[in-house]
Amino acid sequence: MQRYFTAPEQISGGFARIIGEDVHHILRVMRCRPGDRIIVCAGTGTDYLCEITETGAEEVLCRIVSESPSTGEPVTRLWIAQSLTKGDKWEWVLQKGTEIGAAGFIPFTSERCLIKIDEKKADKKQARWRKIVKEAAEQSHRGRVPEVAPVMNWKDLLRSVARFEAAFLAWEKGGKALKRAIAETEASEILLIVGPEGGFSEREAEEAAGSGAVPISLGSRILRAETAPLFAASCILFARNDLGGETE
Ligand code: SAH
Repeated sequence: MQRYFTAPEQISGGFARIIGEDVHHILRVMRCRPGDRIIVCAGTGTDYLCEITETGAEEVLCRIVSESPSTGEPVTRLWIAQSLTKGDKWEWVLQKGTEIGAAGFIPFTSERCLIKIDEKKADKKQARWRKIVKEAAEQSHRGRVPEVAPVMNWKDLLRSVARFEAAFLAWEKGGKALKRAIAETEASEILLIVGPEGGFSEREAEEAAGSGAVPISLGSRILRAETAPLFAASCILFARNDLGGETE
């Protein structure tokens, strides 16, 4: 069944309200009518099975038929920080990372980053990235929409390492095997830092280690910048038996 996110304040008195771009999707793309059912999720851990009662140009009102706990969230809160890669590759990471189960994303700039962020267009970019993540979260049955942080510079990213219980720097020139690094920590808030097409410089790798990020190897093959975070995120959730979905 089709799922839509709405803000928590739009759920009250046994009804759920959907506003914004999803109204167009519900009415024009899915061609839903009063009486049809959808799932509404407020990103607070509960899924609401709803029946559409009223539709208007600006909103869809639904009656909540039943509630159940959202099952789409891993226990591990894994954040992917990636040095910005060319447009469609970063957007691919946002979409696929959401499907795999990332809790959030931090785009950042670093020495060999090929992308320059135009301050004037930053808000527009941010809105586009948030939309990609929201749509991927709906499609993949997540219980929450992952967060997308504003673009950070390298220094800010290093400062944010301290906010996580554990941080890993994907460093192709050598580090702890990912499997061992993940077995050695019980952290539930993890930051994974991945470089751009040209990788990190030695100096950046040292600075990251100095800030508390453990250098990790993703194996003896060099992965493309957009493959690395998706592969690592899959491995981390797999290693922790945190993929969910088991029924017997
Ligand atoms: N330095 C390389 C490749 C960069 S790969 C070059 O010469 O072009 C892009 C990013 O993916 C790296 O910065 C690193 O974070 C990650 N990565 C790719 N393969 C990896 C591996 N085998 N182990 C750890 N990190 C890897």
